[in-house]
Amino acid sequence: MESVTLPPIHEDRSALDLAAIRADFPGLNQLVHGKPLVFLDSAASAQKPRAVIDALSDAYTKNYANVHRGVHTLSQNATTAYENARAVGARFLGASSADEMVFVRGATEAINLVAQSFLAPRLTAGDEVLVTRMEHHSNIVPWQMVCEALGARVVPAPIDDHGALDLDAFEQRLGPRTKMVSVVHVSNALGTVNPVAEIVRMARERGIPTMIDGAQAAPHTAIDVQALGCDFYTISGHKVFGPTGIGLLYGRRERLADMAPYQGGGEMIQSVSFEGSSWAPPPSRFEAGTPHIVGAIGLGAALEYVSAIGLDRIAAHEHDLLHYAEERLSTLPQVRLIGTAPGKAAVVSFVVEGIHAHDIGTILDAEGVAVRAGHHCAQPAIEHFGLAATARASFALYNTRSEVDGLVDAIGGALEIFGV
Ligand code: PMP
Repeated sequence: MESVTLPPIHEDRSALDLAAIRADFPGLNQLVHGKPLVFLDSAASAQKPRAVIDALSDAYTKNYANVHRGVHTLSQNATTAYENARAVGARFLGASSADEMVFVRGATEAINLVAQSFLAPRLTAGDEVLVTRMEHHSNIVPWQMVCEALGARVVPAPIDDHGALDLDAFEQRLGPRTKMVSVVHVSNALGTVNPVAEIVRMARERGIPTMIDGAQAAPHTAIDVQALGCDFYTISGHKVFGPTGIGLLYGRRERLADMAPYQGGGEMIQSVSFEGSSWAPPPSRFEAGTPHIVGAIGLGAALEYVSAIGLDRIAAHEHDLLHYAEERLSTLPQVRLIGTAPGKAAVVSFVVEGIHAHDIGTILDAEGVAVRAGHHCAQPAIEHFGLAATARASFALYNTRSEVDGLVDAIGGALEIFGV
């Protein structure tokens, strides 16, 4: 029998090569107040890998021109790179075609676009948009703006004291008046991972369109919009290691085709005359004006970067960090975790008895530990816990257990300073 050389067996196939990953992110390698930076604010905006920085630099230095209009080589190259990024986005989200992907400024713009272009023309007085109490303001206010103008209202489904959605109460609120369901996939304030497949199934059974805010899901979780069956899904470039000012809206083909444009201008038309203008097919219809060409290319590079590492491995690593952080913080009785839903993502919101969240943020910063303090643009979620603010440590693929130690030690230092 012929002998076969087997590939080496790795002890832990899910483990990330953290030294190599950290070397990819130049922003991590610096001192803050003379201490090595411990960056635990990725839920607000993530650091950028060299692959993204290089893609931006190349796009500006080697192949920069406006897209779609030019016959010259640079314009054709820029157009190819821009459209390639759209195709990468479609693959990343599991869309059936790149035509279902609209470049937007971020999750906020995507939700405003759907509220204005999709919902507004379908809404009448007395109608409802069902969201949850844990939404980011960007998944509340755009719907309120549309609803208030038309005599409709935004209805929140309740959450429990762990920060988990009350799914039964959610289902009870789905009624004949519900014209839209829009739900966050992963909460930025609490880390809760919502059962979005179940939510979409409940809404679809009743013929209600669905939107998922995936701003916090994309850096941590594999997404498949076709398996989910949602009508709209959005991700934000800067949260997934890409540039700011760029994001993607997935819209199911039939939905996008049935929507009028959100903004008018160049690029989004079929023809223009003073008698009237006609719209280009989606997605161009929703991309009026010169787009954020280089941002889109950078986002494509970011999505390729995380895909190459593997979202399952990233999730396993972050869960390890989360459990380690929870274990270590449980040794400090003054610390109370806000958001303890089962299966949550690696976002640790907390309050410290006797110390304001902003003071925690400032004291930790002096130790080089970057966390966020405030309501995290999710005031109703934080108020549910009777609070105005929390401190929040959020983890990404590049964080380490020793950074968790840095966080816990810095909180210990704050306890000493305040004598609590
Ligand atoms: N939704 C969630 C859950 C978020 O965390 C954020 C950003 N903090 C947004 C929406 C808004 O995203 P963007 O910055 O892309 O507008």
